[in-house]
Amino acid sequence: MPIGVPSGLPSAEMTGLAREVMSRAYAPYSRFRVGAVLRGANGKLYAGCNVENSAYPQGTCAEVAAIAVMVADGERRIVEALVMGEGDVLIAPCGGCRQHLREFAADRGADPSVRPPPACGAR
Ligand SMILES: [Zn+2]
Repeated sequence: MPIGVPSGLPSAEMTGLAREVMSRAYAPYSRFRVGAVLRGANGKLYAGCNVENSAYPQGTCAEVAAIAVMVADGERRIVEALVMGEGDVLIAPCGGCRQHLREFAADRGADPSVRPPPACGAR
């Protein structure tokens, strides 16, 4: 099963956690807060938000932040991912994050697509 494309909608727990962590993002430059929640193969959820820096490339995407938390906890396999941005538009991981997600995808040959939360449009 491709990462982030399990059957059905994301759980209310994942959606709520993504919304909560998104509200804590540090995004004074883009003003676009993002929250990411990953489900590890161990069943635990790992959340991260984007943390920007005035030295632009030094910022951290929400997905990478969540992966760092997951790896620090000893988990190295992602079975589900949810990425949420503010507003009514769908967001997708940047190229770097897609590579990060693929690195830890439970099925490494899978498409690291990440599904949006319900009620998001396309961007
Ligand atoms: Zn990214």
